[in-house]
Amino acid sequence: MTSLHAPPLVQTLEWDTPLFLMARAQFEQAVPHAGVPAMVVERLSFPERAVIVSVPLRRDDGSVAVFPGYRVQHSTVLGPTKGGIRYDAEVSLGECAALATWMTWKCALLRLPYGGAKGGIRCDVKTLSTREVERLTRRFTSELVREIGPQTDIPAPDMATNEQTMAWMMDTYSMQKGHAVPEIVTGKPISIGGSVFRREATGAGVVMVAEQACMRADHDLAGQRCVVQGFGNVGGVAASELHDKGATVIGVSDVSGGVHDRAGLDVPGLHAYVAAHGSLEGYDGGERVTNEELLELECDILVLAAREDQVTGSNAGRIRAALVVEGANGPTTIEADAILAERGIPVVPDILANAGGVTVSYFEWVQDLGRLFWDRDEIRRKLADQMTDAFDRVYAVADEKGITLRQAAMVAAIREVAGALEARGIYP
Ligand code: NAD
Repeated sequence: MTSLHAPPLVQTLEWDTPLFLMARAQFEQAVPHAGVPAMVVERLSFPERAVIVSVPLRRDDGSVAVFPGYRVQHSTVLGPTKGGIRYDAEVSLGECAALATWMTWKCALLRLPYGGAKGGIRCDVKTLSTREVERLTRRFTSELVREIGPQTDIPAPDMATNEQTMAWMMDTYSMQKGHAVPEIVTGKPISIGGSVFRREATGAGVVMVAEQACMRADHDLAGQRCVVQGFGNVGGVAASELHDKGATVIGVSDVSGGVHDRAGLDVPGLHAYVAAHGSLEGYDGGERVTNEELLELECDILVLAAREDQVTGSNAGRIRAALVVEGANGPTTIEADAILAERGIPVVPDILANAGGVTVSYFEWVQDLGRLFWDRDEIRRKLADQMTDAFDRVYAVADEKGITLRQAAMVAAIREVAGALEARGIYP
């Protein structure tokens, strides 16, 4: 066991945002239980590398606007770094650092040969045309061409980026190299080397761990009343998987607000509505609720699949779920974690619950490198095996140490990285 020597404050200034401090606080809470050397703690407290670029975009009207872009690589101890690219008005160095740090723990927990990274552009994509988003993506990729690579750092989609964004990144990188390099990104279209089941993988993984958690509590997922916050890639798929497995989805929401029906919502109907209208706004197949009200609905399983910072010190006392599953990254604050633990509400943490995405991204990268592709059933089965193995290890640590699932997941992850870092040592 080791004590955490807080590094001098000056070292943290660059990263000093609430989200990075939260990621650090989670790390510091887990470290005393992990039994790893102080040098490991010091090294893993900070990202290895961060790049800030300014990305010029020629707008459709001929004017030029410049957007800040970031890529943070937290750890290369286990292999190349891996993590999403998000386009959002709140993207910052500290946010990317926090998300890159969580990616390190997530990859390590799932025993993937990767460290964590994250990046993005601070922008509001809703104000940009599709052609503008394409030019912005291509120039951002060019700015990062020396930082990313199939053996160094492999991007993937995140908030407001998708298969098309990855296709533009792959094409831009390939043009600069002079040949097709599909393994540079994951989450790309199947036609250019993407993997079947990648799009569904995160939401499906969320439901796989929810099912395991139900089994531990001696009940079936079928019949559980579920609320899903966020109806995008993760939440939309999670809602469908829950519905398909016989659970009753009683509430869903997106940025436009939520909808609730105690008897169960028509999930396929919700998808059809969102496909036609772009969001849940105006959907009348249930009672309209605000996002705040949705989080506080009485239910068996609350899936948080929107974004960070949703269950906080101010609403955690009013959560009426028997189980919380984090599909999003960082949706539960440190204060909320303590309140939920005190109230006996288990939280299946993000680094376990939403790891299905990076796991199938890993499968995609392996398939691209081998130029040999697997079918849907094989990928789903491999994902279920990997998620269940990680789930069992987290529950075993939680039982053994009497700590929360988040702390247990962190302990299991930190030990994986620590083992490799101790073997490799600090260079030189
Ligand atoms: P997305 O953009 O497809 O969907 C986000 C959804 O959340 C949208 O329905 C949006 O309207 C909704 N939303 C945004 N703000 C909200 C708010 N305040 N209240 C309620 N709803 C809100 O993004 P995504 O890919 O589904 O990612 C969601 C979260 O999951 C993010 O935290 C992301 O980092 C995380 N995540 C995604 C993946 C992946 O494979 N896509 C993998 C791991 C983690």
